[in-house]
Parts: sequence; structure tokens; C-alpha cells
Amino acid sequence: MTDRPVAVVTGASRGIGAAIAERLGSAGYAVCLVSRNAALMDQVAETVRSNGGTATVHECDLADRLAVTALATEFATKSAVIEVLVNNAGTVRVGGVGEQGGEIWDDVMSIDLWSAFEFARVLEPSLARSDNCASIVNIGSVLGVLASSGTLSYNIAKAALHHMTRSLAVELGPNGVRVNAVAPGYIRTEMFESSNTVDRRRALAAAHPIGRVGTPEEVAEVVAFLCSPAASFVTGVVLPVDGGLTCKLAVPELRS
Ligand code: NAP
Repeated sequence: MTDRPVAVVTGASRGIGAAIAERLGSAGYAVCLVSRNAALMDQVAETVRSNGGTATVHECDLADRLAVTALATEFATKSAVIEVLVNNAGTVRVGGVGEQGGEIWDDVMSIDLWSAFEFARVLEPSLARSDNCASIVNIGSVLGVLASSGTLSYNIAKAALHHMTRSLAVELGPNGVRVNAVAPGYIRTEMFESSNTVDRRRALAAAHPIGRVGTPEEVAEVVAFLCSPAASFVTGVVLPVDGGLTCKLAVPELRS
């Protein structure tokens, strides 16, 4: 048992989720890591511990609805009070509109949207018991704000996740639970590498006014701020962490 505040982070085996888990571990949380890959999470947990934090590893396929409800219920039963829930896990399936139905649609909606709702639904009473500044942070995307082609189901799931953030903020504010989201631009992770060619990755970097893609640590820093008492009056926002990508209109330059 630990008297540290508990933080649950989904998709914590690599990429942005691993960086968030490590950052929250350093901030003093007992971090519960969730993903399908126990071996990778063990490595993240080891990093958390080597920085003086505590972490536990929980294997779960978030496409399996019964398993998600069971794990969330286990967290709620084991920890009367939970301070932080970060719904970070996500998957993107690339393909035209004709390919986005069936299993792809179901998987993306289950993992990127429904699991976030289910963790929030089941953990809300434990979050509401916190005397501090309990909060949920959802990891959205610029593709939930503006659409690009080839990732229809993902775009829709992320847009819905953004609106779920606002809706939950309204519902849970009176219970003392803040709910926010970050909408990252392109971030250098396995998801970014595997779904973009080298040429496209170069073009994507150039599309960000800041001239590069982001790092998982840059997203984790903003998530840590949103979870902290420094953000005690911040709820219902979808904060772009995108190097300016969504403030720029994609039209040809006037100057050559
Ligand atoms: P990533 O490197 O592909 O990592 C995805 C994480 O989600 C992994 O920990 C993975 O765990 C977990 N996950 C995926 N499917 C799962 C399932 N069925 N059950 C349990 N866990 C599952 O992705 P990332 O780039 O770090 O993305 C993290 C979040 O940021 C996602 O929500 C993504 O949509 C969002 N985002 C990313 C970018 C970007 O450019 N990278 C931009 C905007 C938003 P296992 O595979 O180990 O199960």
C-alpha cells in the first residue's frame, strides 16, 4: 500500500503515455499503468521507480469491453480515492472511407472513445472523494479539431472525446472533479512513425509553425500541469499542444 495519490494512465507502455506515467511518477503519484504489453510497462515502471516514484502494471486489452469494466472496477475497489485519470490509449487505422467500417470502426471507437468514458464512469466516485483537485485528462488530437483524409474513424473518435471532455466537465464539476483534454499535433512516437512515410513526416514537421513535430515529454508536461493544483480553476478545455498547427490556415504563402 502507498499513501501517495493514485494516478491511472492508459496506454502507458510507450510513447506519450509512458512519458505521462514517468512525469506523474516524478510528481509523487502512485501510477497505475494500463496497456496490453506487460513487458514494456515493466520497463516504464522501472524508470518511475528509479526516479523515486511507485508504479504498478495492469495488462488489459481496451478493445475488450468486459475487461475494461473489470479493471476499472478493480481500481475503484482497491483505491477509495483516486486523484488522476489520464485516458491516453489510442489507435489509428489508416484507410479510405470504404475501409473504415466493421471491425476497424468498432476497435477505434472502443479503444479511443468508449474506454475513456468507461474509466471515467467507474472511477468518478473515487475521484470525487479526493480532497484535492482530482482530475481527468483525455488525450485528444488535432484530428479531432480539423479533419485530414485517411483516418475517418480516428478523427470522429477524437472529436467525440473532445466533446465528452466538455460534457463530463459540466457533469462532474459540482463533484469536485475537473475534466480537460489536450489535443496534440504530430508527436514523434511509434504511432507517428508507423502511420507516416519519411517524406510525409518531413512535410508534417514543416507544417507546424514551430518547424518540427513535438515530443512525448512536451505533452506530458502539459498533462502534469492540468492535473496539478496550479490548474485548479481549469476545466472543460481542449488545450492544443501542437506547435501552432491548428492556428495556421493551410493555403499557399503570399511571399515566395
Ligand atoms: P503509440 O506510441 O502507438 O502508443 C499507444 C498506446 O496505446 C500504447 O501504450 C498502446 O499499448 C495503447 N493501446 C493501443 N491499443 C490498445 C488496446 N487495445 N488496449 C490497451 N492499450 C492499447 O501512440 P502515441 O503516439 O503515444 O499516442 C498516445 C495518444 O496520443 C493516443 O490517444 C493518440 O491518439 C494521441 N495522439 C498521438 C499523436 C502522435 O502524433 N503521436 C498526435 C495526436 C494525438 P499496447 O500496444 O502496449 O497495448
